[in-house]
Amino acid sequence: MQVVNPATGAPIGAVDEMDPGDVEAVYERARAAQAAWADRPIGDRIEVVRRLRAAVVDRLDALAADLTAETGKPISQARNELNGLLPRLDFFCDHAAATLADETVLAEDGLREVIAHEPLGVVANISAWNYPYFVGSNVFVPALLAGNAVLYKPSELASLTGRNIADLVWSAGVPEDVFGLLIGGGEVGAALLRTGIDGVFFTGSHPTGQRIAVEVAPSLAVVQLELGGKDPVYVADDVDPVLAAESLADGAFYNTGQSCCSVERLYVHERVHDAFLEHFVHTVEHFVVGDPRDEATYIGPVTRPQQLAVLEAQVDDAVAKGATVRTGGHRLDRPGSWFAPTVIAGATNGMAVMRDESFGPIIGIASVAEDDEALALMNDTEYGLTAGVYSADEDRARSILRRVDAGSAYWNCCDRVSPRLPWSGRGHSGIGSTLSTSGITAFTRPKAWHLRSS
Ligand code: NAD
Repeated sequence: MQVVNPATGAPIGAVDEMDPGDVEAVYERARAAQAAWADRPIGDRIEVVRRLRAAVVDRLDALAADLTAETGKPISQARNELNGLLPRLDFFCDHAAATLADETVLAEDGLREVIAHEPLGVVANISAWNYPYFVGSNVFVPALLAGNAVLYKPSELASLTGRNIADLVWSAGVPEDVFGLLIGGGEVGAALLRTGIDGVFFTGSHPTGQRIAVEVAPSLAVVQLELGGKDPVYVADDVDPVLAAESLADGAFYNTGQSCCSVERLYVHERVHDAFLEHFVHTVEHFVVGDPRDEATYIGPVTRPQQLAVLEAQVDDAVAKGATVRTGGHRLDRPGSWFAPTVIAGATNGMAVMRDESFGPIIGIASVAEDDEALALMNDTEYGLTAGVYSADEDRARSILRRVDAGSAYWNCCDRVSPRLPWSGRGHSGIGSTLSTSGITAFTRPKAWHLRSS
């Protein structure tokens, strides 16, 4: 399988793609190896993750360079992702033992009731390319800590990084059979679903997630889906429009807009709308677009070349329905897959740019007259990943956000994920959650012990 640099369109190497017919054998080896892994003391498994962390620190620059080469992620943002991985690993190491320990919930008259957290068994980790270290580790780290074997299928657009992740995991001390690497595209993922896996943990788009849920349903395996978003933010009339515009431009365009929690829709109170829009466009026009290997670059190429047509169609649809392109709105004329950072003003929820996930450097902005109008427009979506309110008044923001149907609520911040908080989507954004201690127990099933000593 050729690895292509999206910044140039040139091939940069090749990786061996697995034959889908070979997936079953990897599964069988994982099944055979899982029990011994689960039998190891939890302290041993935590030690393995600590060694993995040390290896990431040692190899950080080389890992970042590979990530930039194959996805076009600007190099400073690739390093940020790797540095951001470290506190996630620390969180899991710090909380795994207590979270996975048996809980005695009753002890009286010779009777004890105990909850044990047993591993699911062999789980599939089918992953996306946009934050491969984050979305991969959210699954395989707690899954391994909980005693599961993991079959890890990185995105075909991040295969070099997938290989690097497997090397890190194996060299930290996880046996190769306990962490199986499946390099390939959708067919390899589909073959994985046909094995006897006990759970599938998927990060990717809604259409693929839905297909996976249907495919796996007859087996009754656990299914957890982290899917796309159409994340809205409301800017109230009591904010400093300059500060809000700078923060939200970053939230919309960081990682070239290719984050599940990128700000995708903005509703701005009419009293601050014009000032906000002016500063927003000014900020976006000063983003450095260029070679992702340059330290100064903020906007890189679009990783999936097919997404360029989606972005173009969203611009055309918005213009046809009366919106105005304030900056950008077109591909960039250079090799590779590039789209100019784009701001669309006068957007309405009838436009594709406000309804369908864009997953690129584009944002739609609408003016609203009051909080309730903003709330109704924010909830007018099939997705439910994150939503935010920028306001000087916490009570006002929280009263809106309490009524927003989304898994994460942001007051005066956006595009943010914390290892301490559950990460979950509603509606087309998915089911189940990763991160936090519930993102550790997600990889277990309870056993209820009824123990009578007399
Ligand atoms: P995608 O759905 O195209 O692919 C995801 C993975 O599924 C890849 O590894 C792919 O090979 C595999 N796959 C494809 N067809 C399959 C099949 N039939 N059976 C099994 N596996 C199959 O998504 P993508 O382009 O890699 O990622 C971008 C999407 O991921 C966006 O929608 C983004 O919002 C979402 N995402 C969500 C989160 C979150 O936490 N909610 C995080 C990152 C990305």
